[in-house]
Amino acid sequence: MNIQTAEYIHSAHSARELLDDGRPEVAFVGRSNVGKSSLLNALLGRQGLAKTSSTPGRTQTINYFLINDSIWFVDLPGYGYAKTSKERRQAWARTVEQYFQHSLPAATVVLLIDAKVAGTPLDAAAWEYLTASGGTPLVVATKADQVSRGRRHQARALLRERVRLPAEVPVLEVSATTGEGIKELRNAIGARLQEPLPRSREHHG
Ligand code: GDP
Repeated sequence: MNIQTAEYIHSAHSARELLDDGRPEVAFVGRSNVGKSSLLNALLGRQGLAKTSSTPGRTQTINYFLINDSIWFVDLPGYGYAKTSKERRQAWARTVEQYFQHSLPAATVVLLIDAKVAGTPLDAAAWEYLTASGGTPLVVATKADQVSRGRRHQARALLRERVRLPAEVPVLEVSATTGEGIKELRNAIGARLQEPLPRSREHHG
């Protein structure tokens, strides 16, 4: 897909503030510090549009960016920051759960996993949660530049094993720093948006 315009529109602090105007949504989810903001900025070609936070785990809002006046890119709060309190983690779960209850059936989900960390139990839990209703997220390994070419194969295999990804699910390697994989990810998202919704999801909207 080509990104002609990208505009920050809204941050939702609660379920009441979620947007639902029938436009397709692409939701970005991953651990705090996975590089989500940097990736969004790279995808959108606009530095600083998504705020990279110096304090990981601080941003708990759901941020909406309007792309080409027709698609929402939805930036979900990052999960699993170690210094986050239990209450904070529960708040994350509530916010994200409300979002997914509301929007998952009609959303394209992009699950971000750090290429170097290569998957944690929380990433495996996120994969399980996101696939429970039958959808398949696009899986993206971020910060690919931090894994040398020689170690890519091994890191990829470890990530797949730890997250328990089925063999048929591809992992797209990207780097916001070098631009590797950014065009490919835009195209993969564009292809998903072209697909008709599965029958079980058609009732939404
Ligand atoms: P977020 O918390 O998931 O939104 O992550 P950020 O985008 O704020 O990035 C977290 C940290 O990872 C920052 O220090 C970034 O500079 C760094 N980072 C993000 N993307 C990349 C990347 O593609 N390569 C490298 N080497 N570092 C990155």
